[in-house]
Amino acid sequence: MKPLTIAIDGPAASGKSTLGYHLAQHLDYLYLDTGVLYRAVTWAALHQAIPIDDEAAVTRLAETAPIAVLPPTVADGRQATIRCEDADITWDIRSPEVNAAVSPVSAYPGVRAALTQRMRAMAAQGRIVMVGRDIGTVVLPDADLKFYVVASDEARAQRRHAEMQAQGKAVTYEEVLANLRLRDAIDSSRAAAPLKAADDAVIFDTTRFTIEEMFGEAERLVRSRENGR
Ligand code: C5P
Repeated sequence: MKPLTIAIDGPAASGKSTLGYHLAQHLDYLYLDTGVLYRAVTWAALHQAIPIDDEAAVTRLAETAPIAVLPPTVADGRQATIRCEDADITWDIRSPEVNAAVSPVSAYPGVRAALTQRMRAMAAQGRIVMVGRDIGTVVLPDADLKFYVVASDEARAQRRHAEMQAQGKAVTYEEVLANLRLRDAIDSSRAAAPLKAADDAVIFDTTRFTIEEMFGEAERLVRSRENGR
């Protein structure tokens, strides 16, 4: 069987990480949610009190910060353990402060170049499901299979709001919706690697299909590609 590289992109809270994580678990592939790298750099900048608008300093951080993406070390629902500067930052990178600053950080070309290099190194051996915004278009343009996951703004905000409430975070549905829309607007309009579907991506609309239906179709496509069809 041919080891595949699988790219999954889409806007915030579209369901792309749920699809990617389950697909990777089921196929025994490596899973990388690339948003955690942008979030970890943003966390490190806030932690070191580096102003988010200091492009040179934030870029240096992306090039040098000791960020590690590891298998889960605690059974608390995490898909991976994220460490930086000897701290477990797995949940801290999901804070409202990081949510508010991550899209400006991700728009810096130097930050993208540094993190894209790390992603490509991780994908070099194949057998990986990589999830993000520009995986099929920029990071792995030769990926064997590309999926692009979309859903309505309201469905995405409801999903993210429910997740945050389950974690005991005091945030309203309206705040979540506003943050998703703002991040999508910045992510889609930036000059460097904007959020968009690759021409050869299979599009899934999670407002119309259940996660099981998407998963079944994705698995079918993976299996037939693994067998060289
Ligand atoms: O996927 P997640 O919502 O965790 O991503 C956080 C932010 O990281 C996104 O809003 C986007 O600005 C950035 N990102 C990116 N390119 C990727 C993955 C994430 O620009 N491949």
